[in-house]
Amino acid sequence: LTYSRASPGMHIIHIAAEMAPVAKVGGLGDVISGLGKALQRKGHLVEIVLPKYDCMQYDLITDMKALDVVVESYFDGQLFRNKIWVGIIEGLPVYFIEPHHPAKFFWRGKYYGEYDDFKRFSFFSRAAVELLYQAGKKPDIIHCHDWQTAFVAPLYWDIYAAKGFNSARICFTCHNFEYQGTAPASELASCGLDVDQLNRPDRMQDHSAHDKVNTVKGAIVFSNIVTTVSPTYSQEVRTVEGGRGLHETLKSHSKKFIGILNGIDTDAWNPSTDNYISVQYSADDLQGKAENKDAIRKCLKLSRSEGSQPLVGCITRLVPQKGVHLIRHAIYCALELGGQFVLLGSSPVPHIQREFEDIANHFQSHSHVRLLLKYDDALSHLIYAASDMFIIPSMFEPCGLTQMIAMRYGSVPIVRKTGGLNDSVFDVDDNTIPEQYQNGFTFVAPDEQGLSSAMERAFQHYIRSPESWQQLVQKDMRLDFSWDSSASQYEELYERSVARARAAARV
Ligand code: ADP
Repeated sequence: LTYSRASPGMHIIHIAAEMAPVAKVGGLGDVISGLGKALQRKGHLVEIVLPKYDCMQYDLITDMKALDVVVESYFDGQLFRNKIWVGIIEGLPVYFIEPHHPAKFFWRGKYYGEYDDFKRFSFFSRAAVELLYQAGKKPDIIHCHDWQTAFVAPLYWDIYAAKGFNSARICFTCHNFEYQGTAPASELASCGLDVDQLNRPDRMQDHSAHDKVNTVKGAIVFSNIVTTVSPTYSQEVRTVEGGRGLHETLKSHSKKFIGILNGIDTDAWNPSTDNYISVQYSADDLQGKAENKDAIRKCLKLSRSEGSQPLVGCITRLVPQKGVHLIRHAIYCALELGGQFVLLGSSPVPHIQREFEDIANHFQSHSHVRLLLKYDDALSHLIYAASDMFIIPSMFEPCGLTQMIAMRYGSVPIVRKTGGLNDSVFDVDDNTIPEQYQNGFTFVAPDEQGLSSAMERAFQHYIRSPESWQQLVQKDMRLDFSWDSSASQYEELYERSVARARAAARV
């Protein structure tokens, strides 16, 4: 199979269900390409294995071709043929697995949310490890992500290591502990795992029932390195409320568990080169930001009479995790404080979507509020560029990317102090924080009062001290949220784990 190792660095293979910009549902997709590119820049050989979905953006894959090999993988007592494709996404070599299984696992017009998701992704995990084994790869690290590819960890150690495919250490990253991939224990057998061995409290048995297995738990137990996407979230999930049933497992594996803050793709999110926005701008020349604000007000038919009236932005999935009741409150709060508000969001939850449609209708021709209930990447760039403040009142937030993107575009974040928000936004009024780190407004209590007081402080600062506000905007725009430092932390973890394995092998 096509790529061979030429670099002196490590050989790292990510097995994942998403990769931006070709197959992206959320932050996971961004991490695969962002972290992958950063590790490649550091001199490592990075390869990715993805399902070959019918609904991917094929126009963003270069040199896509089918390989002249067929990989047979086990499922439900039989061997199934998989056609293997290769292509390049953002400079990274990617293998795509196309199963020849009658259920057409990745031919459903969508990524997730099918009745047989557990089956689809356990099939994919098995086929992906089989591909690496049959290709004779000798990776140093196999990195799997979220429950969809969590099967890789027990498959590797229980089945493949015994066959001599054992060069790698396994790293598992959980991007959100809300989603754990549970199913009746018997379903685990389909991909060849031993249900009796694994359906035990110290292995894969789910905390809620003796006859259910939990794939995220399995990956925590069987991986050499376990990470999540921010240091604060890594602490929160060790608690009863935050761990969603996995806090004990995380505590007993705490030595290998760490939180590393995600970065953002600073090429894709760059106000000085962004082609979506009306006028490009930088921290040294903020005139363009004001022009973007005027342009979006014009486009959305908001009042333009007062240039200095603060514009508050919010771009989010409308799900309970994001604090939808507080987002609703923020609209009215911004109005009361004399500001304008633009929301871009959509909801997979029908009653939340309906509720926000009612609010959107209410403000349909209002001069200061507009709600846009859809997913629209291009429009998101315009809102980041146009807004003065950006609201993120999440109930929990594993990492969060929008606060970092907002700062890069000079929109000052107002966030609840939780998860990755707590690791990236530091209050300008908190004297315990060194001034150079102060970059936004935070609140703790997940209620309307908490949010209102943070918004009031932000508005006062904006209105009473325009010069100091401008300095804050410039400071935020110059902060470094690139993948470089996060990728260095992953690199160090990988290297330490590989070195430990080699030392143990020498004894
Ligand atoms: P999550 O992964 O929980 O949805 P993150 O903050 O990690 O939240 O990532 C959200 C990403 O999705 C950001 O890049 C944000 O700009 C984008 N996004 C969210 N909602 C929308 C939307 N309605 N339209 C366009 N982009 C959106």
